[in-house]
Amino acid sequence: MTMDKTSPRRWRQATQLVRSGIDRSAFDETSEGLFLTSGYVYGSAEEAELAFKGDKDRYIYSRYGNPTLTMFQDRLAAFEGASSCVSTASGMAAVFAALASQVQAGDRVVASRALFGSCHYIIAEILPKYGIKTELVDGIDLTQWRAALSKPTKCVFIETPSNPGLEIIDISAVANLAHKSGARLIVDNVFATPTLQHPLDLGADIVMYSATKHIDGQGRTLGGAILSNDQDFMNDCLTPFMRHTGPSLSPFNAWVLLKGLETLDLRVRQHCANALDIAQFLSEHRAVNRVLYPELASHPQHDLAMRQMSAGSTIVSFYIPGGKEAAFKFLNALELVDISNNLGDSKSLITHPATTTHQRLSPEERAELEITDDLVRLSVGLEDSEDLKSDLDQALTLR
Ligand SMILES: *Cc1c(COP(=O)(O)O)cnc(C)c1O
Repeated sequence: MTMDKTSPRRWRQATQLVRSGIDRSAFDETSEGLFLTSGYVYGSAEEAELAFKGDKDRYIYSRYGNPTLTMFQDRLAAFEGASSCVSTASGMAAVFAALASQVQAGDRVVASRALFGSCHYIIAEILPKYGIKTELVDGIDLTQWRAALSKPTKCVFIETPSNPGLEIIDISAVANLAHKSGARLIVDNVFATPTLQHPLDLGADIVMYSATKHIDGQGRTLGGAILSNDQDFMNDCLTPFMRHTGPSLSPFNAWVLLKGLETLDLRVRQHCANALDIAQFLSEHRAVNRVLYPELASHPQHDLAMRQMSAGSTIVSFYIPGGKEAAFKFLNALELVDISNNLGDSKSLITHPATTTHQRLSPEERAELEITDDLVRLSVGLEDSEDLKSDLDQALTLR
């Protein structure tokens, strides 16, 4: 779905999030309409024939398109600065569709090793079953990228900042190497959000989101999105794949996400302010060994992070000494912060990656990613950061 006249590019970012993509019905509603319909009716058999021939541009079936989905897609595309956006039922549906729609047996896919658990599963387990060769590299090591991309490659997939280690990959450098190898670069921009980082401006070809996270931002629905300016990819690969395999977003979820976009920028800025405050607090806490947060000068890729993101993100990861037992004791002692593997919610959520999101990895793979039993990942919410610091402090002290 391309951007229409209701979302002029001259609008500034905040305006795009509130106004872009609005397509009012004949009832002139203020708030965007929720079109909870699976199909559409035709005025005549001739009209149906024209629609199926592609000679009349109209809605045919909600697996192909729906007005509420179009509004969500157009608004997100306007904010991202992409010509096209396709929404999906979840973030994983977006990852799988972005890859599977363009690869075939014999192709090569290269990805960074530090990935969200299910992304790692698709690259390491599912694609090879279909005869696609996949290779994982250390995302922060350009020498490894150069070696891996010296061979012809179809797709490169990266996540930056990564989960849960918050490693920062140089998007422009990897985009250049990817393009030389003939590959399109896909960036999983979930941790950075559309507010903090613009991968398409840095040379990426495709950006994807789990809208479940910050775009909803209030832990209600699943959703995803794929954005690109590459019309060959959108028209020849992604659109037919989506239409015929069916991972489409439900109109109800699209409506929730569309309303979520209106406050995305405001929320993400406050999440980041809270996260920085907490990262600073934790880095001075005697019960904490090491804090990973891209905006702290101590972060190994701090300069790169500040070049390609406008803030340090909404997640803080940190190591507390004492292994699994100490980590569990700390999590169980928290009174305000909830234990949950979700993230990007207005509620602060904490998880122990080694026993939850990254449990499936082998001990060697976890060691390589520094996902030790000491590591916890905090998704910083919108509570008052003073309350969050008090809660973290009392739980750290109790240990
Ligand atoms: C959550 C997440 C996904 C998957 O999204 P779902 O909506 O849960 O399917 C993919 N990548 C990253 C980085 C995520 O955080």
